[in-house]
Amino acid sequence: MLKWTDMACIVSSKPQLTAKATSSAVFFYLRSEMLIRGTSMPIGLRGHHLLCLLGYRGMGYSKEFCENMTTVYETLRQHPETQIRIVLGPDDLCAVYPKDQESHCENKTVYQRDAEIVSRLGLEVDMELSWSEICGQVADQVKPADIGHLCATCRWEPYGVCADGVRLIGEGRALPPVNNK
Ligand code: SF4
Repeated sequence: MLKWTDMACIVSSKPQLTAKATSSAVFFYLRSEMLIRGTSMPIGLRGHHLLCLLGYRGMGYSKEFCENMTTVYETLRQHPETQIRIVLGPDDLCAVYPKDQESHCENKTVYQRDAEIVSRLGLEVDMELSWSEICGQVADQVKPADIGHLCATCRWEPYGVCADGVRLIGEGRALPPVNNK
């Protein structure tokens, strides 16, 4: 099955698009198109990003990274039936990581965090399930205080937003809207 990243490769092979758009703009274009068309194409997410999305409040590594993250976050928040594919390594959020910053997407410690979170949620790489099912697993398997252990070295952990996202999901409450575009 095609993923968003595959679609980006297809579109970037079209000169009429690449002449006008940067690769990240292609992603935004594709995502907008898919939201409009109601595609069933799954979003590829690595393990730790399943929790990062719960704590996303508009902060990120660059304007384009945040625009992409907001699109994914709002898609999941508004359409919890959206299908997710659990992937190993860089995913549809890493795809827009700024090229002028030191990348950590392939770091061993990040893979370890992915594996630990996938295991904690009772999931496996290559599984496909809905975002609402993932939230159900979070509610059953993760407590807010777990973020401090699972994500001890993450720069965003001290903000407390991810623990708060886990709390909201555990209480069956909605995540807040984010609109930073
Ligand atoms: S603390 Fe960092 S790695 Fe953990 S969920 Fe939040 S942003 Fe993701």
